[in-house]
Amino acid sequence: MAVPARRTSITKKRMRRTHLKKEARTTVSCPNCGEPIQPHRACVKCGFYKGKNVLNREDETTVKEEVKETKKAEKKTATKKTSAKKETNSKETK
Ligand SMILES: [Zn+2]
Repeated sequence: MAVPARRTSITKKRMRRTHLKKEARTTVSCPNCGEPIQPHRACVKCGFYKGKNVLNREDETTVKEEVKETKKAEKKTATKKTSAKKETNSKETK
């Protein structure tokens, strides 16, 4: 069996490995929403592929937005309640 005549130096090893790197994925913009997507794949954001909604994402996104809005409204009411409590506490201390 052939054996290397010399040990590969650290520099030579590092020079060789400069090409061993992960490259960024190529992306194209979605024709429907403009989001960067992988070519030949359905858009993750809107679910469109070749002009058709194949993942039915629009319904999900609208549901999520509704949930977010309700959560925001709940938070606002909660903060109002806490602020009201604080006000009552400050009045009591006076
Ligand atoms: Zn899209």
